[in-house]
Amino acid sequence: MPDRPALLAVLAHPDDESRIIGGTLAKYAGEGTRVVLYCATAGEAWRAGADPDAQRRLRRRELAGACVTLGIADLRLRTYPDGGLDRLGADVLAADIAATIRECAPHVVITFGPEGRTLHPDHVAMHHATNRAVALVRAAVGPAAPPARLCYTTVAASVARAVGWRFPATPDAAIAVTIDVTPWLDRKRRATVIDHASQYHDPPFSNVDEAARWRALAREDFVLAADSLSLPPGERSDLFAGLR
Ligand SMILES: [Zn+2]
Repeated sequence: MPDRPALLAVLAHPDDESRIIGGTLAKYAGEGTRVVLYCATAGEAWRAGADPDAQRRLRRRELAGACVTLGIADLRLRTYPDGGLDRLGADVLAADIAATIRECAPHVVITFGPEGRTLHPDHVAMHHATNRAVALVRAAVGPAAPPARLCYTTVAASVARAVGWRFPATPDAAIAVTIDVTPWLDRKRRATVIDHASQYHDPPFSNVDEAARWRALAREDFVLAADSLSLPPGERSDLFAGLR
């Protein structure tokens, strides 16, 4: 395993990385962690009836800008069908993600939880494909070390109550890691609002006003998948705790 710690985020759409875990990615990139972003689609289907090629070009450009803002130097953008990941077959995605894991040797992988955060079928498909990919890497005999931790992004129940979140949330006591991203909130905000301008018509936590929204977005919560390395006792604020 390379000496420099590495983090791989496996997500579905351009803007998932910014609005969901932008603070976490900016924090670890800023601290010298190798941050790799795997994005399965170019987001070409978000506006019904629009030219998919034009949408793809726009969203690629927006994602490239967000990567600069967040400090992500390594982007693996795929062109699987936006809105069609659940029909692609988990094995196709899993094999590609497993190859990325073998190549990048991340210590920590982040993806969606089983609810896909917003129940979006593409997000749920990424959850299953990433689980399968990690299992493939763990089962293989070879030089590639499997990631020590597979983490799922989630919304804490207290945050869900504060913002009227209508999707599944995780009881606060079951959260494994909470990252206070206040120091990186400006970057997250720039990436979400300015770089991904085409998507801010539907902002995260849209039930509340701008101030309450960014208060809620200043924390990012994670749970650990089964078979992940536990955090050291008392440690709840660092995905890499005990791994450096
Ligand atoms: Zn998404």
